[in-house]
Amino acid sequence: MSTQARPEPCLQAERCMQAYVDRALSVEEVRTVEEHLAVCPTCAKCYSFEAGMRTVVRQACDEPCPDSLRAQLKKICADCDCE
Ligand SMILES: [Zn+2]
Repeated sequence: MSTQARPEPCLQAERCMQAYVDRALSVEEVRTVEEHLAVCPTCAKCYSFEAGMRTVVRQACDEPCPDSLRAQLKKICADCDCE
């Protein structure tokens, strides 16, 4: 018997999360995820983390970032060689 008792809607939302953040879902799928996020604080928190990370990464890629931010990112991803 599994100790993981996550309800199916959570698992489904989790599977869609990356694509949702990337805006790669169909209208129908987006609605399913959004309806779930509205009623599930756990998944909503998970989503805001994903979305926050995406925003930071996207900004870091799109714009020449200030040295202070670059230093922060270097600390976060010490292993990567980002310029
Ligand atoms: Zn959930």
